Amino acid sequence: MAATLIDGKKLAAEMRSQIAEGVAQLKAEKGVTPGLAVILVGDNPASLSYVAAKEKACAEAGMYSREIRLPAETPESDLLAEIVRLNADPAIHGILVQLPLPRGFDEKKVIDAIAPEKDVDGFTPVNVGKMLIGEECFLPCTPHGIVKLIEVTGMDLAGKHAVVIGRSNIVGKPVAVLLSRKSVNATVTLCHTGTRDVGAFTRTADVVVVAAGRPDTLTGDMLKPGAVVIDVGVNRVPDASKPKGYRLCGDADFESCAAVASAITPVPGGVGPMTITMLLWNTLESARRAAK
Ligand code: NAP
Repeated sequence: MAATLIDGKKLAAEMRSQIAEGVAQLKAEKGVTPGLAVILVGDNPASLSYVAAKEKACAEAGMYSREIRLPAETPESDLLAEIVRLNADPAIHGILVQLPLPRGFDEKKVIDAIAPEKDVDGFTPVNVGKMLIGEECFLPCTPHGIVKLIEVTGMDLAGKHAVVIGRSNIVGKPVAVLLSRKSVNATVTLCHTGTRDVGAFTRTADVVVVAAGRPDTLTGDMLKPGAVVIDVGVNRVPDASKPKGYRLCGDADFESCAAVASAITPVPGGVGPMTITMLLWNTLESARRAAK
């Protein structure tokens, strides 16, 4: 393997200790404890474990967290009323609705109900719009974490070519926006299933961010030697040798990509830990703004 590993766990741990210091300072100076409300509707096992991880991270950073669990058959009006209550609750600085919502809920309507100043996921149209025009806002957590991971490689992206594979609203599109900002100054190509030859673009890329949700979307023969690879994908592939009967893998074929790239994120241990870290970051920032 030629590539160095971009250690998301290490960067996340460093940032979380800075966040914990910020939390302690805000408590001491302003008497304010940052508070995050996490709403979970239904009992999707993956969502349950994501919510547990977010609460643990909040506790470790010294933040207050409140879990609101609602049955899958909750009327949408009750969920919206809960969000309205949290919007007005001074102990809560961030509101997160764990997605996906069970069938029958209008996710867009639910996200729209979150007050933009408490939208620490950065998903409301107000925050997305502000990100697009470069105004101060809460940046979406996974894309923001991806930018931080590229920064630690030491690569100056100004004038470089970045290829993003995937155009979802929560990963691909915002990553493309953030990398093309003047402060980063990369030239960005956004690929999707309508792209005729993804490899023709990735082979000229200095950085490839792959967020397709499919194993082996990116392979070593699609890379320029020395490229940086950020693998966002989290896929379960059957593996009888594992106790759970599956293993996790990303969207990049790790072995072949690591042989050509200069740096690559592992799955797990790359992008994942940064997503929760940036959520804590946004919650602390929201509490700071509220305490002003
Ligand atoms: P998504 O909504 O399913 O979007 C996938 C995107 O990839 C789509 O735009 C799709 O194109 C494109 N795509 C799929 N296969 C492709 C291919 N072979 N070539 C080119 N483009 C292709 O997924 P998402 O929500 O962005 O998530 C992507 C992956 O990241 C998933 O594995 C997810 O679990 C993971 N993820 C991880 C984190 C984390 O914190 N680690 C956070 C969020 C997501 P079309 O638009 O043309 O269909």
